Amino acid sequence: MFNKLIVALMPLAPRFIVKMISKRYIAGEDTPSAMATCKQLNAQGFLTTVDILGESVTTNDQAREACDSYLDLITEVSKSNIEKNISLKPTAMGLGLSYDMAFEFIAAIVQKAHESGVFIRIDMEDSPYTDKTLEMYERLRDQYPQLGTVIQAYMHRSLDDVKKIATSSGNLRICKGIYKESPQIAYQDADEVRHNYIKLVREMLEQGAYVGIATHDPFLIDESLRLIDELNISADKYEFQALLGVPIVKRLEALISMGHRVRIYVPFGSEWYAYSSRRLKENPDVAGYVLKNLFVKN
Ligand SMILES: Cc1cc2nc3c(=O)[nH]c(=O)nc-3n(C[C@H](O)[C@H](O)[C@H](O)COP(=O)(O)OP(=O)(O)OC[C@H]3O[C@@H](n4cnc5c(N)ncnc54)[C@H](O)[C@@H]3O)c2cc1C
Repeated sequence: MFNKLIVALMPLAPRFIVKMISKRYIAGEDTPSAMATCKQLNAQGFLTTVDILGESVTTNDQAREACDSYLDLITEVSKSNIEKNISLKPTAMGLGLSYDMAFEFIAAIVQKAHESGVFIRIDMEDSPYTDKTLEMYERLRDQYPQLGTVIQAYMHRSLDDVKKIATSSGNLRICKGIYKESPQIAYQDADEVRHNYIKLVREMLEQGAYVGIATHDPFLIDESLRLIDELNISADKYEFQALLGVPIVKRLEALISMGHRVRIYVPFGSEWYAYSSRRLKENPDVAGYVLKNLFVKN
C-alpha cells in the first residue's frame, strides 16, 4: 500500500528521487555506460540486448535523430566485443507519425545491422501499432534473417499471429504485455494470460521457430522448461529473457548453469523517466525497498 502510494506520487517527486529509485533498471544515460553493463553481464555468462530509451516521438526530426542514434549504436556494438543484439521501439522511429517514415528508418537500421552482424528485435508496443509492427517484420524478415519481433500473450489475436510467423525462420520474443488494453482485445485475468503464454511458447517450439521466453514469472519459467523437456528442444532454439534490474538473478544464473541461454534487456539513454515509471508500476515494492535501504543501515 505504502509502495503503491510512492509510485502514485512519483509524478510529483523531484527527478533525482525517481532516478535514484529507477537506477537499477537503467544502464546509464550514454553508450559507454550501456557497453560497460553489457560487458559485465556477458562476463557473467548472460547474453544481452541493448535498447535506447525513447518512444512516441512527436516530430519527424526526433524520429530521424532516434534512427541516427541507433545507426551509431550499431557501429559501436559491432566494434566492441559485447553481444551483437539490439532492441528498438517502432514509435521511437516515428510510427505514430507516419508508417512510411518509420519503415524507412527501421529498414535502414536493419540493413546496417545486417552488414555489421548485429541482430535487431522490434519491440511490440500498444495495440494501435500491432498490425503495423508485424507488417514491417513480415516485409523485412526474408531479406534479413537476423531480425525478430515480439508477441504479447495478453492479446486475444496472438495465437493466430504466432501461427503465421512460426515457420522455421520465425524469431519471436513472447512476453505477457505491458500496456493497458481493453477487455475486447486482451485478456485481463492473470491466469488467462499465463495460459495463453504457454500456448504461444508451445506453438513456437513445436514449429521449430526460435523463441525468446521473456518473463520473470517463476510459474512460466517452470512450465517453459517442462515444455522444452517434453518436446526435446535443443538449447539453440530458445532463450530466456529478463529485464535489467528485476531481482531474479539467482534463478537466471541457475538456468545458465543448467545449459540454457539467458538474455538481459539493457536499456539506456536520457529518456529514462517513462520506462522507469512503467517498471515501478509493475512492481511498486521496488520503490519501498530502495527507499528503505536509504534510511535503514543493515
Ligand atoms: C526481456 C523483456 C522484454 C520485454 N519486451 C516487451 C515488449 O516488447 N512489449 C511489451 O508489451 N512488454 C514487454 N516486456 C514486458 C512484459 O510484457 C511484462 O510486462 C513484464 O515482463 C512483467 O511480466 P512477467 O512475465 O515478468 O510477470 P509478472 O507476473 O509481472 O512478474 C513475475 C514476478 O516478477 C516480479 N517483477 C516483475 N516485474 C518486476 C519489476 N519491474 N521489478 C521487480 N520485480 C518485478 C513480480 O513482482 C513477480 O514476482 C518485456 C519483458 C522482458 C522480460
